[in-house]
Amino acid sequence: MQINENFLNLEQSYLFSTIAQKVSEFIKNNKDAKIIKLGIGDVTLPLTKSVVNAMTKAVKEMGDESTFRGYGPEQGYDFLKDALKNYYETKGILLMADEIFISDGAKSDLGNILDIFGDGTSLIPNPVYPAYLDTNVMAGRKVNFLDGNEKNNFLPMPEDGAGGDLIYLCSPNNPTGATYTKEQLKIWVDYAIKNNSIILFDSAYEAFVRNPDLPTSIYEIEGATSCAIEFCSFSKTAGFTGTRCGYTIVPHQLAVKETILNKLWLRRQTTKFNGVPYIVQCGAAAIFSPEGQKEIKTNVDYYLENAKIIRDGFKELGFWLVGGDNSPYIWLKCKDGLDSWAFFDKLLNEAHVVGTPGVGFGSNGEGYFRISAFGNRENVIEAIQRIKKIF
Ligand code: PLP
Repeated sequence: MQINENFLNLEQSYLFSTIAQKVSEFIKNNKDAKIIKLGIGDVTLPLTKSVVNAMTKAVKEMGDESTFRGYGPEQGYDFLKDALKNYYETKGILLMADEIFISDGAKSDLGNILDIFGDGTSLIPNPVYPAYLDTNVMAGRKVNFLDGNEKNNFLPMPEDGAGGDLIYLCSPNNPTGATYTKEQLKIWVDYAIKNNSIILFDSAYEAFVRNPDLPTSIYEIEGATSCAIEFCSFSKTAGFTGTRCGYTIVPHQLAVKETILNKLWLRRQTTKFNGVPYIVQCGAAAIFSPEGQKEIKTNVDYYLENAKIIRDGFKELGFWLVGGDNSPYIWLKCKDGLDSWAFFDKLLNEAHVVGTPGVGFGSNGEGYFRISAFGNRENVIEAIQRIKKIF
């Protein structure tokens, strides 16, 4: 018996466990302190009315013999794929329904997609959403890092000779909140086409883009349908982190030599996946009703207002930062020469505020810090007031 030894090459992540341990120790010694958590990447607002109503109706259908449904199509129900097709049309992107694959979230598909690719080299940004790196290590692929830094505003661009048959891009970005422009993405698309690479584009935070000049999908870029797969999710758009639904777009045009990737992915999904629950897909489809769109905009606006308060607060204090304008994350440079963990300790001990040390997202995150806007307004305001007192 042999195990997949690639798993032994994974680096243990102590980021969130260390945070939890430090916070619990602090609480033990400071029983009356009110801790404000601005570290989480999870949403806090509940599912909206339209979603809950649609899911409640679906539950009733499932409990009635005449409307009960068993296995659904592995790729998702037409009603949700059509809703997505129409949504993309509003962005000027024409998709075929069978280019859209409904999933139980972006994280699963970002890992699963490696099933259809062989050995090779992936270009992965540093700092990065950890799942990209770990899934590549598990698959035994070689990884070259793309340097995100202050000079490029944490938006790395291609360098000639960097190679990479798979390229991971995430915009708006987690953890940095930085968002690529159309011009920058066009450079990436041209690079991918020239190098026969495939871009794996993660648009999980697309709903936070408010600047109309910024792209919310890679397919807004000419040529992208021949070199990019897009992964998205209702997690951050509509509070589906616990409900689980997302989608992956694999255009028909995408091919490696003569092999059409859409067919390969369909084969993978129909073999290893049995679809997202009908009830959940009904809830997801409700996001695209006029009422549903209004509701999620209200919720995303709430988080964005939090982000603005955080961003403005740190800017006033003279911090260098990116993100927070078209994203729920603010990525700031630690002050006074503190490294990420020393900054974490200072915020916790002196302001009783918890954030996320940037170094937890890769070596280029050392000396940086992520603040999340997925919190409650009063807490955000109070956290900034406290932070202003200590800097
Ligand atoms: N991609 C990015 C960049 C994320 O930050 C997250 C969640 O935090 C995901 C994907 C995962 O999304 P899902 O909940 O759809 O699996």
